[in-house]
Amino acid sequence: MNPIVLVTGGSRGIGAATSKYLAKQGYSVCVNYRSNEVEANNVVTEITENGGTAISVQADVSNEEDVKRLFNTLDQTVGRITHLVNNAGILLPQMPITSMTAERINKVLSTNVTSYFLCCREAIARMANGGSIVNVSSAASRLGSPSEYVDYAASKGAIDTLTTGLSLEVADKNIRVNCVRPGFIYTEMHADGGEANRIERVKQHIPLQRGGTPEEVAASIAFLLSNEAAYITGTFVDIAGGK
Ligand code: NAP
Repeated sequence: MNPIVLVTGGSRGIGAATSKYLAKQGYSVCVNYRSNEVEANNVVTEITENGGTAISVQADVSNEEDVKRLFNTLDQTVGRITHLVNNAGILLPQMPITSMTAERINKVLSTNVTSYFLCCREAIARMANGGSIVNVSSAASRLGSPSEYVDYAASKGAIDTLTTGLSLEVADKNIRVNCVRPGFIYTEMHADGGEANRIERVKQHIPLQRGGTPEEVAASIAFLLSNEAAYITGTFVDIAGGK
């Protein structure tokens, strides 16, 4: 039977590229999205037209009932999950900490952190025969994003710690938990931060002098998920051009 992977936030950007990359490797893919049904269905169509297997499921992964429904739907339509890519995330407009409201901070934390915990919980409950999880963090967890979005950077710091703790907690169940930390990847997320051309502004300070592509992130996620990484857990791959 094909391995079964859930990619949260699979409708756009890194999640869409990862869904397509994994489908080519023979995974049955569940493409989760929050609101962008058309984009999610476009990803599914591209996969199935190339001979792969995919479904799309709407769910706000920061909402516990939605997460339960997402996993139950996957159980009933495709089968038991074997691999999880925790990828869904948001970035809100740049501002200093002194301007941030509790509402904004909680929105970032529930979307970027609570969701990863909930999806890990549901996946692990189904991984009686082992499994593999990749969390998508960010170079921001190391850099801090001062004066731009420290809330976002701190949410990714939490994902790094989740990766370390959970990898140790489930290692004896043969479930591996790893993490990628992209930075400066060409997606629509930068527009949500209020600066669509942010990478062009900062790229002279990136050692490799350019932004990265979603496909370059997908390749590292696919490696960490795969059996080629069977002896790797609790580790981090930085995909940020040397930054
Ligand atoms: P993106 O293009 O903005 O796509 C975000 C995806 O997440 C969309 O599929 C969106 O669904 C989904 N999403 C957002 N909130 C959700 C929720 N509550 N429930 C379910 N799905 C939700 O972002 P991206 O740049 O590909 O980023 C993907 C991941 O990489 C994020 O965790 C981000 O923090 C991380 N990352 C990105 C960069 C970068 O430079 N782009 C760098 C470092 C880390 P809809 O389409 O329905 O809105």
